[in-house]
Amino acid sequence: MATSVLSKPAAKGGSFLLESPAPQDIFTPADITDDQKLIGQTAEEFVVKEVLPVAKDLEAKKPGLMAELTRKAAELGLMSGATPEEYGGAGLDKIATTVLTEKISIYGGFATTHGAHAGIGTLPLVYFGTEEQKKKYLPKLASGEFIGAYCLSEPQAGSDAQNLLTRAALNKEGTHYILNGQKMWITNGGFADLYIVFAKVDGEKLTAFIVERTFPGCKPGNEEHKMGIHGSSTTPVFLENCMVPKENVLHEIGRGHIVAFNVLNAGRFTLGASCVGGSKHVLATASKYSKERKAFGKQIGDFGLIKEKLAEMAIRMYAVESMIYRSAGYMEAAMNAAAGSGNKSQNMMKALEEYAIESSIAKVYGSEMLDYVVDEAVQIFGGYGFHEDYPVCRAYRDSRINRIFEGTNEINRMLIIQMLMKRAMSGQLALIPAAMKLADEILAGPSFEETPEGILAEEARTIANAKKMFLQAAGGALQKYREKLADEQELVATLSNMVMEIYAMESSLLRAQKAAAAKGEAAASVMVDAARVFISDAAERVDHYAKRAIAAVHEGDMLTTQMAVLKRFGKRPVVDTIALRRRVAAAVQAQDRYPFEGR
Ligand SMILES: Cc1cc2nc3c(=O)[nH]c(=O)nc-3n(C[C@H](O)[C@H](O)[C@H](O)COP(=O)(O)OP(=O)(O)OC[C@H]3O[C@@H](n4cnc5c(N)ncnc54)[C@H](O)[C@@H]3O)c2cc1C
Repeated sequence: MATSVLSKPAAKGGSFLLESPAPQDIFTPADITDDQKLIGQTAEEFVVKEVLPVAKDLEAKKPGLMAELTRKAAELGLMSGATPEEYGGAGLDKIATTVLTEKISIYGGFATTHGAHAGIGTLPLVYFGTEEQKKKYLPKLASGEFIGAYCLSEPQAGSDAQNLLTRAALNKEGTHYILNGQKMWITNGGFADLYIVFAKVDGEKLTAFIVERTFPGCKPGNEEHKMGIHGSSTTPVFLENCMVPKENVLHEIGRGHIVAFNVLNAGRFTLGASCVGGSKHVLATASKYSKERKAFGKQIGDFGLIKEKLAEMAIRMYAVESMIYRSAGYMEAAMNAAAGSGNKSQNMMKALEEYAIESSIAKVYGSEMLDYVVDEAVQIFGGYGFHEDYPVCRAYRDSRINRIFEGTNEINRMLIIQMLMKRAMSGQLALIPAAMKLADEILAGPSFEETPEGILAEEARTIANAKKMFLQAAGGALQKYREKLADEQELVATLSNMVMEIYAMESSLLRAQKAAAAKGEAAASVMVDAARVFISDAAERVDHYAKRAIAAVHEGDMLTTQMAVLKRFGKRPVVDTIALRRRVAAAVQAQDRYPFEGR
């Protein structure tokens, strides 16, 4: 498949905090090729024509229906995007799998089923399987003959997954591992044929196993009664003296954590893409409704407060979509750079590892964006939004899980800073020299700054200053707490919020600048408006987080000095976000859809 390649080598993971790439150096949705779009179109058509019409039956858990649809989607290659062609998969590049995920995610129940099968249920084999294991299982997963599931969580161990109690011991004959334990919350649990199960060999060595449903002692439990994603299956899986052939150890004994966490990395990025897809459908539904519903003799969509909601939904979606495709572009470029050396799946895994910070950002920021979008959609529908007969009600319930699975947003917030600090300490990321340089700049006092020129130039300066605020806040926090920083969770999460806002702001900025350069300022004007609103509001949030972090680290005269410095970095022009949001709302309402699709 034709792949769009960035003009420059991909930036290193996390380096967005230190560098300012040129707009042409990032991938944006406008760079998606026709082939990649076609895959998205096939996925969307499948969901619209095959899945949505039977959504009521899926929600009621009509026996066999979700499994049947999964198999149908597999026949179209929609369930094996990341599986190499030699094992029967679609062998798509990272951009195409991202487009596929986005477009297949209109209905939460199916999006979850897809993620568990094509993502976390299949990728352990793609990345870590032996040749024999891949040949045996991947074609079956790709064709839908087998449906996959990923079994890490247990009743007492979710976030703290390494505390799992499932045990594995080699039998006397040395032919099978005997697994005993209970897995909890397993997506696709009720109808999966293949479970990737994590257990501790001899009570301590965390190991991944490939477990077929038909293996003696493997027994899924009853469906859980969930708040949302009713169309998807979630069950416990019981392992009672379950006999697993020793050839079904995945990767190495005692290296299960490597399998588990690398696969979750991939899952987190995918979840972010899925949230973008889900939100687009919700915005379209809400915009249409705003024209149908009348109050006070007007369409409710004519009221400023409804326009403001539609605009803000689109603006937050724009920011997340910009981040997701920027990151996908980096991953794809990193893979292309590694092509020719080593194995393709391994290269993909390394690329995912390199951008693990960006993947956690995609997960957290994407899921919180979707929660915002569905919440406002319910509000636009008023009382009808609270009724099961209306689609936004289901979307609202379905969205909530995204902040919980694939690592809760609390865990991911902490991971973002943990991974950044690890990179900083190992010298992979020059955060410490940058913080020291900033300290010198602060000591030197204010310098004359030229007025920036060009489209969104003021916003570019705002972002450069936000990066300085982060270095100021993180530098102080690290100096004070050093290796104990992780214990200061509220501070860590505050720093993490700054990191996410910076990536979101910059991705929004660069995409709008790239669009304006390619199509002209007039054609890109609404996108520029969206970027300006987003950056203006996000800068306020960064300001707030920086104050909070600095107040937690310094006191007395030092605190006063730090706050004065912060004020200097916080200078930025005032933006009329009400007027700009009205323009974005008009663009949404003109077509009843997200206005920046493919742009
Ligand atoms: C519908 C659904 C589908 C799922 N699918 C799968 C699946 O297919 N496979 C699978 O293996 N698992 C799956 N899960 C499990 C999911 O990954 C876990 O629920 C999740 O990781 C959270 O774990 P927990 O529920 O045990 O919550 P806990 O870990 O008990 O967390 C409870 C709260 O405490 C917070 N917390 C925990 N530790 C810390 C900490 N160190 N610092 C600060 N806060 C902390 C959490 O953020 C959360 O807010 C699914 C769950 C659901 C509900």
